[in-house]
Amino acid sequence: MTRSGFCHECDQFPCARLKQLDKRYRNKYHSSLVGNLRDLKTMGPEAYMEREDIRCHCAGCGAVICIHSNVCQQCGLVLPGRI
Ligand SMILES: [Zn+2]
Repeated sequence: MTRSGFCHECDQFPCARLKQLDKRYRNKYHSSLVGNLRDLKTMGPEAYMEREDIRCHCAGCGAVICIHSNVCQQCGLVLPGRI
């Protein structure tokens, strides 16, 4: 195993533990950790963070959205396509 900053930099990516966590997040939160890490690798950190900045903020009020919820905790907007 190679230790590094991101899982996608490891020679075992995606390892069994990450695959298991990814499956849980895909099923429960409609978000793929493995997919995000692959996007980070292909897009580069700046473009990836720009995309995530848009995806992670409520369209109604601009608050940061928790990946574990489909409702904005700030304004109550129900976010389509989540959970
Ligand atoms: Zn909101």
